[in-house]
Amino acid sequence: MPDDCLFCKIVAGEIPSTPVLDRENVYAFRDVAPAAPVHVLVVPKRHIGDVRDLQAADGDVLIEMFQAANEIAASEGIAETGYRVIFNVGRDAGQTVFHLHMHLVGGKPLGGVGPG
Ligand code: AMP
Repeated sequence: MPDDCLFCKIVAGEIPSTPVLDRENVYAFRDVAPAAPVHVLVVPKRHIGDVRDLQAADGDVLIEMFQAANEIAASEGIAETGYRVIFNVGRDAGQTVFHLHMHLVGGKPLGGVGPG
């Protein structure tokens, strides 16, 4: 893991976060600047840079991330009303943290494509 990776430090408990779900390979916590009533970040515990770095061997952890999203949507009460999952990739998407993360956003109508 890079020494300066914010989400590695959050996974390690070196930087505080508000946990939502903690599994063997996946951790989920509340976004510090929520874009909607529900805004949770789902990350692999193992450092993966971003979508561009994904390998076939990462398939299992990706499935775990989506399973986590399904669980969180249910526990947050938005599984039926709907939500958005977003992976920002690179500059034009506004990516700021280079540790793979899924935004799970919902709890209000989100309009067109975008984080809401
Ligand atoms: P992205 O723009 O896709 O790279 O998303 C990074 C997200 O991390 C943003 O939505 C930030 O609000 C969020 N974020 C940054 N620092 C923290 C932190 N310490 N705890 C929780 N979320 C954070």
